[in-house]
Amino acid sequence: MSKVRTRYAPSPTGFMHVGNLRTALYEYLIAKSQGGDFVLRIEDTDQERYVEGAVDVIYRTLKTAGLKHDEGPDIGGDYGPYVQSERKDMYRPFAEKLIESGHAYRCFCTKERLDALKQTEEYANGGYDRHCRDLSKEEIDKLLAEGTPYVIRQKMPLDGTTTFTDAVFGEITAPNEELQDQILIKTDGYPTYNFANVIDDHLMGITHVVRGNEYLSSTPKYNLLYEAFGWEIPTYVHLPLIMGQNEDGTVSKLSKRHGSTGFDDLVKDGFLPEAIINYIALLGWCPDDNTEVFTLKELEQKFSIDRISKSPSVFDYAKLEWFNGEYIKNMTVEQFEQTAHEYIEQGLGGKKLDTVKIAGILQQRTTKLTQIPENIDFFAELPEYDAELYINKKSKTNAENAPVMLKAAYDELSALASWDHDSIHACLIGLAEKLGVKNGTVMWPVRIAAAGKKVTPGGAIEILDILGRDEALARMEKGLAKLNG
Ligand code: GLU
Repeated sequence: MSKVRTRYAPSPTGFMHVGNLRTALYEYLIAKSQGGDFVLRIEDTDQERYVEGAVDVIYRTLKTAGLKHDEGPDIGGDYGPYVQSERKDMYRPFAEKLIESGHAYRCFCTKERLDALKQTEEYANGGYDRHCRDLSKEEIDKLLAEGTPYVIRQKMPLDGTTTFTDAVFGEITAPNEELQDQILIKTDGYPTYNFANVIDDHLMGITHVVRGNEYLSSTPKYNLLYEAFGWEIPTYVHLPLIMGQNEDGTVSKLSKRHGSTGFDDLVKDGFLPEAIINYIALLGWCPDDNTEVFTLKELEQKFSIDRISKSPSVFDYAKLEWFNGEYIKNMTVEQFEQTAHEYIEQGLGGKKLDTVKIAGILQQRTTKLTQIPENIDFFAELPEYDAELYINKKSKTNAENAPVMLKAAYDELSALASWDHDSIHACLIGLAEKLGVKNGTVMWPVRIAAAGKKVTPGGAIEILDILGRDEALARMEKGLAKLNG
């Protein structure tokens, strides 16, 4: 058995859709689960669609996602170059071989003729009427001598069928008469994707071609090329579509109206790359047990082609958020602080507080990093709040006892020799005991005074500790003034 080689072959569009990322991930996992190589190839033959900086988006995404390629334009390898535009001159000789063997032909049709063809009912949706398929040698020689520009088209068999087996979708058969005489080499000399992918996959020794199922219907044409050259056909692994849930309950192809669809945008939305990768791994594949949370290393061991599903999967943002929360919980507090640092600083608006302690109160309740600034904004500045907040049934606080509790807490806390979590804890618990009330009856008014918000990450003790003595006491004084005012 030859070594497994997969390739991720993006066209540089400047945007990494989660569908593309899933393709890259599955290619990576298929290679790594079988000790193979994962190759990156840039498919930039469509020069009109060239986007500045787009290749960098690809490198950056693969790197952030942890999908390390073994060969590629940036690191080289034995099968380079890995950018199709740099391979430009390699394709034409192969196309010429096909002309010689009767599997391709030169087409001299002008743009005007092809445009006129599109106006006809039969070719309104594209296609070519095979006008140049049977030109005589004399005609061809004459046109060539005149320097007439031409494309090279694949000569499809006019009858019979082409059958192949896809590892996910099973056996597929296409009637040959439905296959278009597609262009292999364009007038500008560049190969089309349809031609270049076959030549490159063969020359690069690719054993498994993994891609979106929008290519399934073109695959018979590629197989006819492999056959014409006498090359071995790779294993095809076409992946089902990723759908999004519409408001009316139906599903349709995942697009912007469902939410973010790009890797960068999901990261901007506050999702961790590891969680995105983990979630995406399960969009079309499942392990043989119910495990859901995997590191990339674990996926590399577990992944298998036979558990890829052919039914479309629905991108569930709530589920992704659940994964994200799990990844956040599993970090050390220091790791979480580093990951969330920017968001914490944003919430603090320039105020210098202990960000590790803040990370500590946020970690268990954060499912998206973008929730953080709003959740901790009260540290930056005490918000305006209503005295009603002091009244809480569960904590047994009311308009009468709240000021009493807050005043008693203020007096005890002002007398504390050292301001730290344990001292504040002992002080407030001791006070509740002394007064013969529930802990909550003391804690509730203190927390409201310290934060000015009904819901906060962390309780009274953590918040007082983080605010520091002066700020904490000043806020309690304000609270007392509000309650007594
Ligand atoms: N360049 C193609 C794309 O980005 C790749 C398809 C393939 O993997 O063969 O869709």
